Amino acid sequence: RAAVRLENVTHEYGSGGGRFSSGSGRTVTALEDVSVSVGRGEIVGLEGPSGSGKSTVLHAVAGLVVPTEGTVSVLENDLTTFSDRQRTRLRRRHVGIVFQRFHLLPSLSARANVALPLVQAGVPKRRRRARAEELLEAVGLEERITHLPSELSGGERQRVALARALSTDPDVIVADEPTGELDTTTGGDVLELLTDVGRERGRAVLVASHDDETLSVADRVVTLCDGQVVSDGG
Ligand code: ADP
Ligand code: ADP
Repeated sequence: RAAVRLENVTHEYGSGGGRFSSGSGRTVTALEDVSVSVGRGEIVGLEGPSGSGKSTVLHAVAGLVVPTEGTVSVLENDLTTFSDRQRTRLRRRHVGIVFQRFHLLPSLSARANVALPLVQAGVPKRRRRARAEELLEAVGLEERITHLPSELSGGERQRVALARALSTDPDVIVADEPTGELDTTTGGDVLELLTDVGRERGRAVLVASHDDETLSVADRVVTLCDGQVVSDGG
């Protein structure tokens, strides 16, 4: 069975009068009747022009956006029926998130950044440190363990972000332009790592990109245009 399944998902920003509502009453239909699934052990690429809805799909899978209509299932849990608390819990336990702009905390070392999700998961300090160091080694940053993000290159920061996303050993990984700001070499390293972890243990990986090299690691590519799926694996 699919690890991730979006069924007939439509999402309008601005219709709920939520936190980010402009109050103007204008809505943006970011997704329209989108159905996508990712099996265990599968890497699915998501392509499409800027504004086509890729990030919204990833945010929905991570439970950071609740779509206006349709269902989003992650590991057989329908997130649209969950409370905020339940969604947060599922995300923390099972979903690894890699975004383009890293979201590293500037005042924390690489190791502390990687260990952060483990703090939330209640893992004891000694084990957090060991796990963080093991992951930083796996991404080739064993010499950068105590560096601050500001002391790292873009490629190194992206690798720290990837290590952090993997720290809780998530079943599902969502990555938004994970190689977007990297040169070819470091981008290639990040991709190789993402592919390796994706193939491990039946994980499900959903990676949004408009970079051909990034999309080439996918088993299947889904194309979005104006919030609709225009091709799936074609
Ligand atoms: P992509 O990742 O493919 O660039 P997005 O999912 O970010 O696409 O955006 C899809 C559409 O939703 C775009 O029209 C975008 O402007 C709009 N959008 C994205 N996020 C928001 C938001 N927080 N509030 C209002 N509109 C948004
Ligand atoms: P908290 O409740 O402590 O703010 P969340 O449950 O919101 O944490 O986030 C869980 C994980 O998802 C964290 O590792 C966080 O960095 C990441 N995350 C949450 N929201 C976003 C976002 N909008 N963009 C990128 N990463 C995010």
